[in-house]
Amino acid sequence: MDYTKSLKSQTVATCPHCNAEVAQVPGRGRLRLYCTPDAGKAYRQRMRALGFPV
Ligand SMILES: [Zn+2]
Repeated sequence: MDYTKSLKSQTVATCPHCNAEVAQVPGRGRLRLYCTPDAGKAYRQRMRALGFPV
C-alpha cells in the first residue's frame, strides 16, 4: 500500500455481477465496484432476493 498515491489508482476492482475487471476512473468520485450501474443494481437485487443485506 502506497499512501502517497490515490487509493483508486492502486485498486483493481472486480465486478461481482459479471466478474469483469472494473477500470477505475482517475480523479474525483468514489471507487467503482461494478462495471456499470445496471450491473450493480442487478447484483444487489439478486443478493437481496437471496436474503443478503446488501
Ligand atoms: Zn459487471
